[in-house]
Amino acid sequence: VFPDQTDAAGRPATLGVLGGGQLGRMFVHAAQRLGYRTAVLEPDPQSPAGLVSHHHIRTAYNDPTGLAQLADLCQAITTEFENVPAEVLHALAQARHVAPAAAAVGIAQDRIEEKAHFTACAAVSGVMCAPYAVITTPDELRVVAAERADLLPGILKTARLGYDGKGQIRVRTAAALTAAWAELGGVACVLEKMLPLTAECSVLVARGWDGQVVSFVPQRNVHVAGILAVTHAYEGALPPALAEQARAAAVSIAGYIGYVGVLCVEFFVVADGSAHGGLVVNEMAPRPHNSGHYTLDACNASQFDLQVHAMAGLPLPQPRQHSPAIMLNLLGDVWLDASGERREPNWPAVLSLPGTHLHLYGKAEARAGRKMGHLNITGPDVASVKTVARRVAALLG
Ligand code: ADP
Ligand code: MG
Repeated sequence: VFPDQTDAAGRPATLGVLGGGQLGRMFVHAAQRLGYRTAVLEPDPQSPAGLVSHHHIRTAYNDPTGLAQLADLCQAITTEFENVPAEVLHALAQARHVAPAAAAVGIAQDRIEEKAHFTACAAVSGVMCAPYAVITTPDELRVVAAERADLLPGILKTARLGYDGKGQIRVRTAAALTAAWAELGGVACVLEKMLPLTAECSVLVARGWDGQVVSFVPQRNVHVAGILAVTHAYEGALPPALAEQARAAAVSIAGYIGYVGVLCVEFFVVADGSAHGGLVVNEMAPRPHNSGHYTLDACNASQFDLQVHAMAGLPLPQPRQHSPAIMLNLLGDVWLDASGERREPNWPAVLSLPGTHLHLYGKAEARAGRKMGHLNITGPDVASVKTVARRVAALLG
């Protein structure tokens, strides 16, 4: 569907998104720049994406009336978060182009299915996930606690609904594992071996309906307390051979399931010489990702542009990065002083520095750990980008 096309009833080309967060907002911006109308389905009346969209359907993600309205307005529909019920995408796909498909989102929603997918791909991708065991019942817990000492120390992660380090407990002993499973509510979990990470990286891949695949150069990510803090996207951020291995693995992980849309695959880099040394695949997000926000200012096409092109069936531009970049996430903490009172960050000083690009998501309330925006830093060379990043960090710290 082209942005200047109308449907049989004469209505304008409209792209829909399930979810109203910042990823939806940046998707809407990209769609509108091409000339599309947009529709957001999101219950929150003040959501970042709903505030900037032509249409905002304020219902729950599984509300039949809201979904019918979305299908009626839109020729193609995507999702901006993976916890939208996969059945909803499946039902919408009966009438409309939906990308990514329900099956792909279903895999990414569930760490057990996700790891099974990575394992099935390993022969082609050449990359394994961390050693793990599935725990869904008290019996499985007993067996794992008794027989899988090789997974300790490890991290117990809920199979579903975890994000930003939530739904995870680090365990050193079998007794701690048993207590942690109870603490997580006895829900389906995976116990993953704790690996000695030297770095983390991610790859953004976009795949079209016709199988065309493009990808961005892999970026290095730094997490603090389970939340992405900084993305380094420039030559030298990762060893070139490792970056190429990650890129090829992500392409094969997307192709294996005939994925359509933008997919982010996250990897661990494990110390060479240790048991699982090298690249290890961690998880995948069936959508644009926080670690790809630098593409908004450092590339000829952003991850959101690619999502629009992929879902609408337009040819995918080959992404090319024209500037080294560092992305700093802006969490609510930036707006809070030591006693938790609201303060105004020193934006005039930050924006006076060369190559700073501020992106705020329109969220009214600043809470600790809440993603409020991000700041991209670009520049003529890596050294000057790093210098500006240090100055910004000092101003906002
Ligand atoms: P989330 O869904 O919250 O992003 P992840 O599985 O990516 O969950 O874990 C969050 C972070 O915790 C990772 O980015 C990494 O820093 C750390 N982590 C997770 N699993 C492991 C592991 N097996 N070994 C070492 N560190 C890990
Ligand atoms: Mg993660």
